[in-house]
Amino acid sequence: MIREGSLEEISDGKKYRANDMVRANCLDCKGCSDCCHDMGNTIQLDPRDICELNVGLEATFEELIQKEYVELTVVDGLILPNLKMDIKTKACKFLSKNQRCTIHSFRPGICRLFPLGRVYENRDFSYFLQTNQCSMKNRAKIKVSKWVDVPHFEKYETYVKTWHYLLKDIEQWLLENGSENTQQMASTVLKYFYMELYSKDGFYEEFASREQKFRKAFQLC
Ligand code: SF4
Ligand code: SF4
Repeated sequence: MIREGSLEEISDGKKYRANDMVRANCLDCKGCSDCCHDMGNTIQLDPRDICELNVGLEATFEELIQKEYVELTVVDGLILPNLKMDIKTKACKFLSKNQRCTIHSFRPGICRLFPLGRVYENRDFSYFLQTNQCSMKNRAKIKVSKWVDVPHFEKYETYVKTWHYLLKDIEQWLLENGSENTQQMASTVLKYFYMELYSKDGFYEEFASREQKFRKAFQLC
């Protein structure tokens, strides 16, 4: 989720890499589910998150929207999906009555990161620890990659970077090519990267191939 404020204000001031130890381990959260409530539209979903939900829930993108697990929000001129909170309780719809995540093994990347965040610089990124977001005060140290807990972590990080900077380059393209192209670009991104199913075992390869073709088509350097 996107937080307001400078890095110094919201973090311990350090930047972490995949192999660094960080005090993020909430030790199974012990009944707390604070970060699964009142998140509004901030749990944004990337193409891998949607691919995981497609497989885990056996639902297409359109079905995720129809079932109101996912909603669409305008972000910097694009239309991007995010987890939809329950209107009455304001809690995530995947939170069980006993406050556990029912999609834990295929939960979105933002949920995996929390209470970490990412800071992007020079076509790369590092992690930071949000100091005032997690309710658990006595967190233990854990290796960043272990906390995020995604298989093939190097491939995952390469993908995260590629997706982030593709969105940034699209943002720039929209600034340079005028608002009349915004709607067409927004719908192309949604269809090409989210709605068309990925093959179950080859997500990263297929994403990389789509990204290259997309850049070529729109002449994004
Ligand atoms: S706020 Fe912290 S302790 Fe509570 S559920 Fe989220 S990560 Fe776990
Ligand atoms: S998907 Fe799971 S971890 Fe993420 S907000 Fe929902 S219940 Fe919480």
